Amino acid sequence: MTEPQAFPSASQADIGVIGGSGFYSFLEDVTEVAVQTPYGDPSDSLFVGEIAGRRVAFLPRHGRDHHLPPHRINYRANLWALRSLGVRQVIGPCAVGGLRQEYGPGTLLVPDQLVDRTKSRVQTFYDGEPLPDGRTPNVVHVSFADPYCATGRAAALAAARGQDWEAVDGGAMVVIEGPRFSTRAESVWHAAQGWAVVGMTGHPEALLARELELCYTSMALVTDLDAGAEAGEGVSHKEVLAEFAKNVDRLRGVLFDAVSRLPETGERSCACVDALDGWDPGVELP
Ligand SMILES: [Zn+2]
Repeated sequence: MTEPQAFPSASQADIGVIGGSGFYSFLEDVTEVAVQTPYGDPSDSLFVGEIAGRRVAFLPRHGRDHHLPPHRINYRANLWALRSLGVRQVIGPCAVGGLRQEYGPGTLLVPDQLVDRTKSRVQTFYDGEPLPDGRTPNVVHVSFADPYCATGRAAALAAARGQDWEAVDGGAMVVIEGPRFSTRAESVWHAAQGWAVVGMTGHPEALLARELELCYTSMALVTDLDAGAEAGEGVSHKEVLAEFAKNVDRLRGVLFDAVSRLPETGERSCACVDALDGWDPGVELP
């Protein structure tokens, strides 16, 4: 016999979306929740609403006024805050540059691999340093061979197909430190490795989700061809913003549909659920 479930409070959610305000600004009855974590403050408040009967917490990755550059985002606080509201599955839409001619602006790609070229970011919750409350996390090594949730990827791909936007199934996202864009030489080199797209926020976001046994799915919207894949002047921020704005309604549609396709929290059957695989993190997960 199962326990009767308490009706979820307005500040609880089981799915998280890390993206811009364009994804939740059209929802009715959104509850703003300020969350503090042992790892500091998240990028902003979390905004909790409902999509297709599912409770979803939205977190503007760069802050609602977009004041945080990619290397200043507190990725640890963001993931910890989501989990503390009950979130167990996360979707992370992001803007990327295409590294192949065929991945031009407007391409939607659901990556299956990641290459870390960041330089200064803290990549683990479990770094052996004491937290403000005196607890000290143990050292933990999680598997990251497949950085994205298989179930979440399938949901994202099916959702895109359902909206007549055939997404690219797989490819490696290389994550650079930023905030500058790549040089032509870097871009040519990234493309020569066979990597598909380049972004600035995909890491350590996916890894930190894994460390908290959260499912994580990336949805990468190509806003420009990267410097080495195009013949023109190179990427500009203006170009990126304009292309993202052009596609945000469409992307929101896919995102909401993907949310409705995710399994209930208690019915996850993917490997993410046991990511700690017997490791004792030394701290209680929220
Ligand atoms: Zn999963």
